[in-house]
Amino acid sequence: MTCRELIEFLDEYEAGAQQPEVRAEFERHLRVCPQCRDYLKTYRDTLVLARASCEEHGDRVPDEVPEDLVRAVLAAQREGGAGH
Ligand SMILES: [Zn+2]
Repeated sequence: MTCRELIEFLDEYEAGAQQPEVRAEFERHLRVCPQCRDYLKTYRDTLVLARASCEEHGDRVPDEVPEDLVRAVLAAQREGGAGH
């Protein structure tokens, strides 16, 4: 599995929707690839932020955070956070 594949499968992984063998590959890649571990952590943090921001606005917390929202938050973090 490549980093690109891992990122493509991330939604399924988080949803627990993967075949066991794909999941095993995924976790094997995570063990050897710090970059993807960071990415996964950021992804999870983003979901937490997205849910928190829904709560702030008094909306019902959705079970599924819309993917475009996740991407928007990730993009904002890349621009604001890294600084290089
Ligand atoms: Zn990777």
